[in-house]
Order: sequence, then structure tokens, then C-alpha cells
Amino acid sequence: MPAGGGRGPMPEGAEAPAPGTACRICLSGPGGEGVCSPCPCRGSLRWVHLSCLRTEFLARQQWTQLTCSICKNEFSGEPALLLAALALQSAEAAWGSESVGTLVCADHLGRLLSNAGELAEAEPHLRRALAGLELALGPEDPEVLIAASNMGMLLKCQGRVEEAEPLARRAWRGSCAVRGEEHPETLVFGMNLAAALRELGKAEEAEPLLRQALAGLGKERGDQHPDALAAAASDGQQPAPPAASPIPVVAAWYPCRALVGYFGYWFMGLKFLFLEL
Ligand SMILES: [Zn+2]
Ligand SMILES: [Zn+2]
Repeated sequence: MPAGGGRGPMPEGAEAPAPGTACRICLSGPGGEGVCSPCPCRGSLRWVHLSCLRTEFLARQQWTQLTCSICKNEFSGEPALLLAALALQSAEAAWGSESVGTLVCADHLGRLLSNAGELAEAEPHLRRALAGLELALGPEDPEVLIAASNMGMLLKCQGRVEEAEPLARRAWRGSCAVRGEEHPETLVFGMNLAAALRELGKAEEAEPLLRQALAGLGKERGDQHPDALAAAASDGQQPAPPAASPIPVVAAWYPCRALVGYFGYWFMGLKFLFLEL
């Protein structure tokens, strides 16, 4: 992992552990290293030393799986970035630099860097993943479509929307053909394409994609959806989702590992998008 400008072990905005907190792996207190909360696990499973998490990850040797072995959600924040870099390095050593597994690891690292706002650092990883996966799997493979969408979202974040649109469109069209228009991954790709289209002033084309995503993804809503959690919290049934680290909640709900261009809007309700169209 290149130097990242003073990243600490705790995800941004995470709360400090209470006195008496123990690491879920070694069961010791935080000590000098401190502990982090890398996934939605709570209670006695919430906190872990980054070094213990790293040791467990290395022992597991599943380089394309950046998920918690307990709650099955993808890790987030600084721990996820560190493990993704470690995974890529390990996959290259174990599988070679051109293998599909290694390229998926590159896509993971690029996506997480992109989510963290490290756009310049993310770009070579996402470019490598897209080019290599396309060569290995052909242009229509779902892994290639994810890599295309992720590359498109990175370009959009960089303000290069005209370059982003064809990649986002390719991911959406390909997924429509391979998985069908109603597949959750297709709907997320459509939402991302809509994000690019709106920035290009093509609101008429964006609107049906957003409506389709709202209707289709709404059917998939479970009790982990942010809206459901917020509604339950307002009823006093359970605590509200952690506002400072919402990514695990969304990662638990989204059925794909594509970057989500409208990520922030889900917390306001997608309907607000239509007021802007
Ligand atoms: Zn520990
Ligand atoms: Zn967990």
C-alpha cells in the first residue's frame, strides 16, 4: 500500500471503543495498537486489532474475499484498504499477475480506493482489472461488466463524464443482455449510467433508468436496507444505522460489488432524485 497521507487504523468517523473492550480474535484489550471496527459486527465481536485481522486474513488465503467471516459483509474503511492491498500482493505471488483472481483483487483495491476518494491511486488498478479481465474472459462476462462500471464511476468522480458514459452504458447494456433488465446488478449499473447521463444534461434518458432502479431494487429491500433500519429506529425497535460509517449497511444490501454512483442518495430516499430531474 503506497503511503496514504496518515491513515489510521480506525475507519473514519468510527466511535472509540468503551473501556474494557477486547479484540474479538485475541481477546486482549486494545493496548498500544488500538482496535478498529471493520464490519457491521457489533457487541463483543465489534472490535479487533488490525494486526489480528491481518493475521487471520493471511491464514485464510482467500484473496478475492474481503468479507468478515462472521457477518459475511465486506470490510470497510481503512482495514478494507489495507487488506485489499495485501490481497493483491498475495494473489500476484500465488497466482501470477495475469490471473483472473489477481485481476479481481486489483478491481477490489481500485474500487475501495475510489470509494475512499483516492482517485488517482485507484485508476491504474481499475484500468488493469478491466483490460486484463476482458482479455481473459471476453467482453460480456459479468466480472468484466463490473470492472467497466467501476472504471466508469471513477472517471465520473474525476469529472471525466464524457469518458465515463460509454463505460457505464456498456456495463448496463451488457448486464441487460446477460442477466436481464430486472437483475439487481443491472439496476445498479442503470443507476450509475443515469448518474453520468444527468451530469451530461441527458435527464430524459436518465429518468426511466432511475425509476426502474427504484422500483426493482425496492422489491429487494430487506430489514438491512437503510430505509427499513431508519423506520425501525423511529419506531424504537432497534438503533439507527451508524451514520458515520454507512458503507457496511449498503454493502450488506447491494447484491453486487459495483461502485454505486448514487450511494449518498439512498440515505435521502431515491425519490429526491426525481425532484432534481
Ligand atoms: Zn487482537
Ligand atoms: Zn463482521
